[in-house]
Amino acid sequence: MTEQSKRIAVTGGAGYIGSHTTVELLEAGFEVLIIDSFANAEDDVPDRVAAIVGRGAEVERLDITDGPALGRALAAFKPDAVIHFAGLKAVGEAVAEPLDYYRVNVGGSVTLFREMAETGCNRLVFSSSATVYGDPEQVPIPEGHPLRPTNPYGQSKRMVEQIVEDWGRANPALAAVNLRYFNPAGAHPSARIGEAPQGVPNNLMPYLTQVAVGWREKLSVFGDDYDTPDGTGVRDYIHVVDLAEAHLAALALTAAGPGVHAINVGTGQGYSVLDMVRAFETASGQQIPYVITDRRPGDIATSLADPSLAEQVLKWRARRGLDEMCQDAWAWQRGRNR
Ligand code: UDP
Repeated sequence: MTEQSKRIAVTGGAGYIGSHTTVELLEAGFEVLIIDSFANAEDDVPDRVAAIVGRGAEVERLDITDGPALGRALAAFKPDAVIHFAGLKAVGEAVAEPLDYYRVNVGGSVTLFREMAETGCNRLVFSSSATVYGDPEQVPIPEGHPLRPTNPYGQSKRMVEQIVEDWGRANPALAAVNLRYFNPAGAHPSARIGEAPQGVPNNLMPYLTQVAVGWREKLSVFGDDYDTPDGTGVRDYIHVVDLAEAHLAALALTAAGPGVHAINVGTGQGYSVLDMVRAFETASGQQIPYVITDRRPGDIATSLADPSLAEQVLKWRARRGLDEMCQDAWAWQRGRNR
């Protein structure tokens, strides 16, 4: 690594995936600036990151929609690359408040990219999502699959990918990777950072952990009449530390030369909701009571990554399995309950 490529700004660096990626960056010797509004992150996350690594990141508390503040932070830090996580991420809320989602996710991204251009930063890794594919025509899903998101959250991710592509056409020096995440799960093995949703969790894994620890009575399994082996939804769960490592591989790709890439980040392995319940019961030693309820509107039967492009281009593949995801998620949740 050259001296010039060592400074990385991480928007949303105090969030779930951002904090795990910050740990990996610091451990690999990068200097990191966390840019976060802390709207959906706990204030002490940067301290906990520093406790894991033995060295911390710089922190700027600001909202990415605030162009002048963002511009000052980038001008002072002079990042060699930006990893952009900051954004809103609840699908149900996006359906109810689409304008907020477009303002923050699309508007905030454009503001960030303009300020990057202003400071001469041409390297970007963007936090996209497999929701850009919508209801898949084929699984596993290759990157060439049509992009037909079914809600404003997925649309906002697709739009930002498009903006990055157009920026790359206008600016041949741009080196960018749109990472399409499948279903992140688990926590750091230190149990110091993990997923901490506000209110009732929308996602399966944090809901499972909260039932296991006794915060919630039972899991609702959203439908058991899908066209899957046990009738419940199948997803490609990926350990958040594997996902964090994929960002370092993507950063290396942006250092290798210009171009805009879109790459799936998943394992290629699918698990049903009931598989997850059983795996979590084993990891936690707790019974998970559940009831079968109606399907959740907008859900699809199966979502699975074709991870072969990541292996070829990023030289990266997921190494951690389902048991590790469940054990690490459980250790994290138990630590919070003390
Ligand atoms: N799910 C469920 N109960 C919940 C939350 C999720 O049965 O309380 C199911 C959901 O229908 C899907 C899977 O778990 O089949 C993963 O859902 P999640 O919201 O975690 O991710 P996404 O829908 O974005 O893939």
